[in-house]
Amino acid sequence: MTAQSLPPYDDSIDVLSYDLDLNLVENFTKNAHRSFGAKQEIRFVTGSLNTDRVIRFHASQASIIPGQVEGAELVKHESGIMYLRLPEGISAGDTVTIKLQYSHSGVKDEGFFVSKGSVFTNNAPIEARDWFICNDHPSDKALFSISATVPGNVIVGAVGQNEGITDTMGHKKWKWRSLIPMATYQMVFSASTDYKLKKSSVRSKLSGRDIPVELYWRRNENEREVNYIRDIIPIMLDFFEDHFGEYPFEKISFATLTSDFPYGGMENQSFITLCAGCWYDLLAVHEFAHQWFGDLITPENWEDIWLNEGFAEYMEAYWIETWTRPEDGQYKAVMRDFANYYFIADPKDAISESKWNTDIPPGEEFYNSALIYKKAACVIYMLREEVGKEKFFEILKRFTTDPALKFGNATTADFVKITNELTGKDYNWFFDQWLKHPGHPVYMNRFRFLSENGSDILEATFIQEGWERLYYQATFELKVEYNDGSSEVFTGFNSANGETFRFMVKPGADRVIFDPEEKIILKKEF
Ligand SMILES: [Zn+2]
Repeated sequence: MTAQSLPPYDDSIDVLSYDLDLNLVENFTKNAHRSFGAKQEIRFVTGSLNTDRVIRFHASQASIIPGQVEGAELVKHESGIMYLRLPEGISAGDTVTIKLQYSHSGVKDEGFFVSKGSVFTNNAPIEARDWFICNDHPSDKALFSISATVPGNVIVGAVGQNEGITDTMGHKKWKWRSLIPMATYQMVFSASTDYKLKKSSVRSKLSGRDIPVELYWRRNENEREVNYIRDIIPIMLDFFEDHFGEYPFEKISFATLTSDFPYGGMENQSFITLCAGCWYDLLAVHEFAHQWFGDLITPENWEDIWLNEGFAEYMEAYWIETWTRPEDGQYKAVMRDFANYYFIADPKDAISESKWNTDIPPGEEFYNSALIYKKAACVIYMLREEVGKEKFFEILKRFTTDPALKFGNATTADFVKITNELTGKDYNWFFDQWLKHPGHPVYMNRFRFLSENGSDILEATFIQEGWERLYYQATFELKVEYNDGSSEVFTGFNSANGETFRFMVKPGADRVIFDPEEKIILKKEF
């Protein structure tokens, strides 16, 4: 089997936990020192093993230099994959622990970042393998712990909860552990001599639990902005728990990174990372929404990434809708901006591409703002318009509180199934046309007013460019304006090209406006 034809991860194992022990002292004490030594334990359950009992883990070829292995034999390290042979006698269903030593080569990669006084990691989408050995796929969630040895003046934050700081040979060892499984793309830490740590707590109205809040901010940042985020955390917590159920993790924390961080923010489970100085409320809302959409319920595969980004992005607009007056039209203005962002970028892929499952593009290309964020948020907006606001939030809550999905993974089909169950209708057409196809409808509708047997009639014929390829179905509204200044809205469901509807109108009809409320926000009119 060649590396190219291998599945993107080893599904014959189910990792239970990763325990890392990193020595990062020299990353702080030596100038531009990017390598480190580490010990690691991986505990996993075996599935149906091949006869040679060889399993695979990801370990970046350029970054990871394997050392001693206990509990398995290192067969080879090739094309970013470590092949390990398990001892004889191990069979399907056994729990196996292997111990590995390795070092980071010091090469610059997209996972392990070092600058003066700061070390941090960013794993999404597939960079965890740059700094530890793992089954790097969102479907294999596992527990995670990290011990990081650093100079005494460094503060280390990470996913999970702190299990103490111990002195070790003049340095400090910070230990973090998560007891809630997470995807490898979220198993991160950030350490800096620059950090100040602001601690507080927030009480969940839903569970009564006091949740620790930790904000890792930097000396050159504006403390008032940090305090602002601290002060909206209780509001965000209420808001999201109301809609999506209990906040599920050990703590709520935000940490800013350095300018090396290529993203605006990353939703690592219980440890959200932000770009340098980025104490912005909408960014915080986006990443906090991910604690449900992405962390509690993680995409089964990369084609399901819109379940993360679409909802997190949409929640920014919904947050604005919640805290502004409807007459100011802020919600729709944000959605219009999202749609325009998409129209201008005009991405060639669909929102959900199965090709990403086997061949995920580099992170900054994969996390395509116009597509899986803005366009997906618009699709979610249109879903709400199709099913109605109340039903829409019922669907979302069912999704985020579904015991079969919580703390695990979900596919797009899982979300569609819940939508269909709760509405009692079949919305496959909706998800198929918007998620599985690139582009958007371009309408060339024809409207005319007729007089028949003394009645005035609006005749509306729906036409889309490119209908032979795909016809976008939608519930539509037509607003008829009369000479006397009054108006009337007619509605229907348009399912095919050339479909004609006739509506009785009052005398004095002057003009017709298609989709006056911009409910089909991803359309163009020709
Ligand atoms: Zn996001």
